[in-house]
Amino acid sequence: MPETRSTCPYCGVGCGVIIESDGVQITGVRGDPDHPANGGRLCTKGSTLHLTAAPVHAQQSRLLQPLRRFDRASAPQPVSWDAALDDVAGRMAQIHANHGPDALGFYLSGQLLTEDYYVFNKLAKGLLGTNNLDTNSRLCMSSAVAGYKATLGADAPPACYEDIDLAGCMFIVGSNMAWAHPILFRRVEEAKARNPALKIIVADPRKTETAELADLYLPLLPGSDVMLFHSLLHIMLWEGWTDNAFIVQHTSGFAALKELVREATPEKASAICGLPTEDLYKAARWMALGGAHSADSAPRQPTLSLYCQGLNQSASGTANNAALINLHLATGQIGKPGAGPLSLTGQPNAMGGREVGGLSNLLSAHRDMANPLHREEVAQLWGVETIPSTPGKSAIEMFEAAADGQIKALWIACTNPAQSMPDQAMVRRALERAELVVVQEAFAATETTAYADCLLPATTWGEKLGTVTNSERRISRVRAAVTAPGLARHDWQIGVQLARRLEPLVRPRKPSLFGYDMSRAEAAAEAIWNEHRESTRGRDLDITGLSWQMLEEKGPQQWPVPSGAAQGTQRLYTDGRFVTDDGRARFDAQPWKPVAVQRDARHPFSLNTGRLRDQWHGMTRTGQLGRLFAHVSEPQLQVHPQDMQRLQLRDGDLVHVSNRYGAIVLPVQTGSGLQPAQLYLPMHWGGMYLSGRSSKGQRLAGVNALTTPEFCPRSKQPELKHVAVRLLKA
Ligand code: SF4
Repeated sequence: MPETRSTCPYCGVGCGVIIESDGVQITGVRGDPDHPANGGRLCTKGSTLHLTAAPVHAQQSRLLQPLRRFDRASAPQPVSWDAALDDVAGRMAQIHANHGPDALGFYLSGQLLTEDYYVFNKLAKGLLGTNNLDTNSRLCMSSAVAGYKATLGADAPPACYEDIDLAGCMFIVGSNMAWAHPILFRRVEEAKARNPALKIIVADPRKTETAELADLYLPLLPGSDVMLFHSLLHIMLWEGWTDNAFIVQHTSGFAALKELVREATPEKASAICGLPTEDLYKAARWMALGGAHSADSAPRQPTLSLYCQGLNQSASGTANNAALINLHLATGQIGKPGAGPLSLTGQPNAMGGREVGGLSNLLSAHRDMANPLHREEVAQLWGVETIPSTPGKSAIEMFEAAADGQIKALWIACTNPAQSMPDQAMVRRALERAELVVVQEAFAATETTAYADCLLPATTWGEKLGTVTNSERRISRVRAAVTAPGLARHDWQIGVQLARRLEPLVRPRKPSLFGYDMSRAEAAAEAIWNEHRESTRGRDLDITGLSWQMLEEKGPQQWPVPSGAAQGTQRLYTDGRFVTDDGRARFDAQPWKPVAVQRDARHPFSLNTGRLRDQWHGMTRTGQLGRLFAHVSEPQLQVHPQDMQRLQLRDGDLVHVSNRYGAIVLPVQTGSGLQPAQLYLPMHWGGMYLSGRSSKGQRLAGVNALTTPEFCPRSKQPELKHVAVRLLKA
């Protein structure tokens, strides 16, 4: 029975898996005991991966051949790969010639492999000359990127999973990791069981399963994170719990922050955050001193922060991230075993995408599009004359530009914006108005494939090969256990084949930029990887020492791995030097601002959204398995018991939820962990799974009919975690 080591394609924990197959079909999966991320464990999603790859699902759900629609009114027809690629390349070249390169837009995914990302980034920014390449990581991690860069100088999570075992205090903020990152949460539970003195603080508007483990639960009001963090620093300063030697030796900009947090008194924060002042004092003390130690009983114990979308998906996303990192810098809780800020990535390879510059404002190897020197370096690496200086459009901006008619062609790979983007009415207008919509997908029937002029079948988990990077900077191999069904091709392969068709049309008589030998997939992926590797030379994420062979022989490694290094780097900034011009970390002083769409008399409820334990994103994969619906079988709006009573609602009643973006009708359920006037609806359901009717005959729709496109001005990440709505009994 052949066995293949690979990586789980779901969340950013990045668990290693061993795929069992009969050489043709995947027959089983189990955790890889040698993978450092999970040590052999898998959660419900990971342990059922093989069932989602069963032939019955493959035949029913997979896109098996290229399809082309000759006009929008007719059904897509099967065509050959050559015909499909010739057609879309010709139409893209025509749009490029008639309207300029910025009439093209690429929207990719944190589920692509690093090699996929690399090829498409080079294709858009190097070959076509447009920076309109963004990904669904914009909805997920761009605030973490901006927060790290604003404070530490580079998009580099300093801590690692082992720090969970070593911390004296853990601050879990805006993350239901018990459901969203289950295997990592097992490690938190074990650390607590081993060390009852470990203090766990959980800050989240909802009392989730993660909060059940907390020694101190902070049910802060939505959008009050910056005020919470500023008030903790205010208390630390007042009580003398900051690490003044660290501040003086390793940071800059503290005076401005100190002045700013002077106003963030515990009383003011208590009113804005909805938290008792004594809890603020307790949190400040535990966080600064790494648990219950007093300042006199030095040394401090280490504090680790774990955080996710509650901070990121906010109109203040960058300020949220930076204000939390400020606390680590002010207390010297960084660069030491058990200490530091560690953002959790939602998707399996959001990190890899960031590494190759897979956002509209980034370039290869953590370079910035806005930096002329960085553009020149990348132009040289790629062998092109120039990288355009025009800023690319971020996810929301790209779809708004398509809805306005500025972007004429959208190329969408491995993601489902017609379900997962906020303000669905705008996104669907964009998909209808674009002259050309190409969707590169493993699955046939997503909300987005319904809009495609051309559908290109892609490989998926168990068939793909390349690399991914998890939340702790660990690069793992993804390997193919079986060949893809039908005519599916690897995403990077599709990118290269498109690029080679475009080159004579947009860059005639020049040598190819995509000269990889495609005769062997493994060798081609390695060649792309080597090009990416070389682009990291001398950068903060330098992996010039990490060859394909080393990955094969030594297994997953954490970047950086500079040339000559025997292994990866577990922790960053251990010498107190940061990736800034003067080597000092920078305090980022940003004032607290309220949520973008505030409650009012007509819209008196706050709507929050997030993941369920057993479903993944738009459910294209997990939605195939009946057993994964045993946990939660249908979308239900969770409502506080008092609001249920006031509106005379009973579990299962239908309600009409609406705001300026849209309206949905769905059943309600009494929500146990909510505060009054707060609602919660899982993100997974959209039009595809609700195209039928509920038991009461009403048509249903997903939460993104209601979410806002308002975004953080620095990270451009939309505020998916809060929007004001009105709620009426249907
Ligand atoms: Fe996969 Fe995440 Fe579960 Fe690990 S924790 S098995 S990576 S979904």
